[in-house]
Amino acid sequence: MGLVDNFKDLFKLADAVNNLDLYKKLTELQTRAMELEEENRTLKDEIRTIREQQDISGRMIVNDNSYYVDDGKQLDGPFCMRCWDADRKLIRERKGATPGTHFCLNCRLTK
Ligand SMILES: [Zn+2]
Repeated sequence: MGLVDNFKDLFKLADAVNNLDLYKKLTELQTRAMELEEENRTLKDEIRTIREQQDISGRMIVNDNSYYVDDGKQLDGPFCMRCWDADRKLIRERKGATPGTHFCLNCRLTK
């Protein structure tokens, strides 16, 4: 039973005793509980994102001014160093017009 489901039962009890102050207090508590549930969801999402970033960071290899990610079998990449270092975005780089060069469409940085 979720937190909000518990409030449904409490509101029924408040109705039964016909106590307006109790009903108002329950409404305040329900609103706060819903805010805390939303905050909890947001924090869980942030933790998951940070763990994913840590996992990627632990598998990164620098080569030729780009990052490559070791998936245990092969290296995936190249990925833009600037986008990862500044924004924690894993942006795949494109081959440049000059052989051996590559660039990032996200930050337009040519290497
Ligand atoms: Zn970039």
